[in-house]
Amino acid sequence: MTSDTFGSMVFSDSVMRQRLTPEVYASLRSTVEQGAKLDLSLADAIASAMAAWAIERGATHFTHWFQPLNGVTAEKHDCFFLPGQEGVLTAFSGKELIVGESDASSFPSGGLRATFEARGYTAWDPTSPAFVKDHTLYIPTAFCAWGGQALDKKTPLLRSMEALSRQAVRVLRLFGNTAVRTVRPMAGAEQEYFLVDREDWARREDLMMAGRTLFGVKAPKGQEMDDHYYGPIKPRVAAYMADLDEELWKLGILAKTEHNEAAPSQHELAPYFTTANIATDQNQLIMEVMQRLAPKHGFVCLLHEKPFAGVNGSGKHNNWSLQTDTGANLLSPGDTPYENAQFLLFLCAVLQAVDDYQDLLRLSVATAGNDERLGGGEAPPAVISVFIGSELSSILQSIEQDTPYAGSQRRTLRLGVDVLPKFTRDTTDRNRTSPFAFTGNKFEFRMVGSSNSIACANIMLNAAVAESLRQYAQELEEAEDFPTALHQLIQRVYREHKRIVFNGNGYDESWLREAVGNRGLLNLRTTADCMPLLISPKNVAMLTSHGIFTETELRARCEIMLDNYVKTVLIEARTMADMALRQILPAVEGRADSLCQMAFHRQSICGGEDSRQAREAKALFALCDQMEEAGEKLRACAETVGDLPDTLARAERVRDTVLPGMRALREPVDQAETLMPEGEWPFPGYRRLMFGTK
Ligand code: ADP
Ligand code: MG
Repeated sequence: MTSDTFGSMVFSDSVMRQRLTPEVYASLRSTVEQGAKLDLSLADAIASAMAAWAIERGATHFTHWFQPLNGVTAEKHDCFFLPGQEGVLTAFSGKELIVGESDASSFPSGGLRATFEARGYTAWDPTSPAFVKDHTLYIPTAFCAWGGQALDKKTPLLRSMEALSRQAVRVLRLFGNTAVRTVRPMAGAEQEYFLVDREDWARREDLMMAGRTLFGVKAPKGQEMDDHYYGPIKPRVAAYMADLDEELWKLGILAKTEHNEAAPSQHELAPYFTTANIATDQNQLIMEVMQRLAPKHGFVCLLHEKPFAGVNGSGKHNNWSLQTDTGANLLSPGDTPYENAQFLLFLCAVLQAVDDYQDLLRLSVATAGNDERLGGGEAPPAVISVFIGSELSSILQSIEQDTPYAGSQRRTLRLGVDVLPKFTRDTTDRNRTSPFAFTGNKFEFRMVGSSNSIACANIMLNAAVAESLRQYAQELEEAEDFPTALHQLIQRVYREHKRIVFNGNGYDESWLREAVGNRGLLNLRTTADCMPLLISPKNVAMLTSHGIFTETELRARCEIMLDNYVKTVLIEARTMADMALRQILPAVEGRADSLCQMAFHRQSICGGEDSRQAREAKALFALCDQMEEAGEKLRACAETVGDLPDTLARAERVRDTVLPGMRALREPVDQAETLMPEGEWPFPGYRRLMFGTK
């Protein structure tokens, strides 16, 4: 990369500084930094600078770019140019920059938008930079119905960031900090993905329709040798990664590390962290560019959470921290007693947030795909807990119990008086089994699925932490003796919420028993189980009180997410039945038939009835019968789901009958695969997909 390439396609802060007048630039900055209302009279000047810059970079069109509730991004392109009396005019003024009208009827709205009022509008988000891609100027926007209800993921994310900032600043004031004006959540999302050969992909209906394999026997080798993780990168993959880097750098996304992941043909990309809002936009772009570039290298990029049974699935580690506009990381332990006390209070705010809103965090990552991964014995379980490492645990414990901290010097800790003992970044933070881990100066939320937008996870995290901070601010603002009140608050919060702290192995069976049985933590295994909790009275009260969602918006979102779950599973069920009955069954029967002929010929020449061929043919025919029965049953079962009156009932039917039906069909098919000659199986198997031609 050269310094010319990086961010060359981004209308960045430095470009704005160069191209806008000092007044316009200053006004825009204060909008971006403090959320001040943008002076509309300046919009024309910004628009014309933006258009001129974009046109120099080859843009002919512009689009408002938004993130509707189906989890992908949407765009509607308009041409920059209009024929005018004196030649060609630029049809891009402040008005086009700031608001766009969009037909909302083709995006999911969960009943928010009656069809007679199909219009929605998009509104410029000046906090996330515009960029040029594919000859088009992309303007990040929020997407709302005309009634003002959010129809996208960005609007509530921005609202949650505001709520969090408001409460965090209140708390900082109590520590005597008068300089900080805003606090921003920062996010860095490590993205996992699989690459498979495009030709192999095109021969598998399940990969094409569902993005994952629905059948398949484990290859003789999986990830047990640990030889893929951080292993050498194959040339074709390396070329793809180089291409990907180049594209992302132009878009101002600093892709920091790329390495092979645990499973064969699995890889990871980590961008440098930035404000949660921009990180969300960037992650959407990363996923899009990953998929777009793969075919050029003969690959398809799979972002599904569980493309293959029996090896690791793909997640997205959402690294999250809190940064002040003065540049301090609030999750970084400091050097003075006050900084330490402040750090511990923010740490407690996160512990309480995760404990109080386990359900919201779980449902923020719930999709049919991620349900396959969570709790699969190789990913964080569906139970949420927080890893903070043994040293921080014992510090908090000694504060809670007023007992000496058993660190280097044994003594009791008085918050705001003593300097905290220096604790090193716990080495066990490499423990990858925790769904929510403190890693020294940030938290890493590891339950996010590889195809999820990170918006939802960050919205819920911001909201829940804002709520803890609101409670603390209120309590401490009323206190007469701040240090004592603070000490007691931290003691109480840790006592009440320490059940959420778990530093052991999250994949261990005994942890599930302990978590659910003794600690009473939630174990919400499927989307159908957790999504309805989005509209529980407790959650509605919290999210509406901070102005992050209205109750109507929450109901709509619940509806859309459940509907999405139902549709995803039904597509998979129909694909499975189709493959089993129309591709696999004929192939297996064909093989059985030729075995019968062999058996017959063999018997007529060699005698004896019970030949290997006859036995195998019988076994295959028996499996064919099972396949046919399970396939027909699955088809019929999938058909009846639509008859149910409401979305929750449909989701429960999918969970209780369709998914078990899919497992029942997979069994005889996978057994048959082990008996079939490789060349006679109608599509490429796991060995070829994972270890194939790269
Ligand atoms: P790991 O050990 O998990 O590989 P890294 O330190 O490499 O962790 O960082 C992983 C991700 O976390 C990167 O995307 C990085 O930019 C991001 N990250 C680092 N520091 C912070 C922070 N303070 N806040 C949010 N994200 C961060
Ligand atoms: Mg990580």
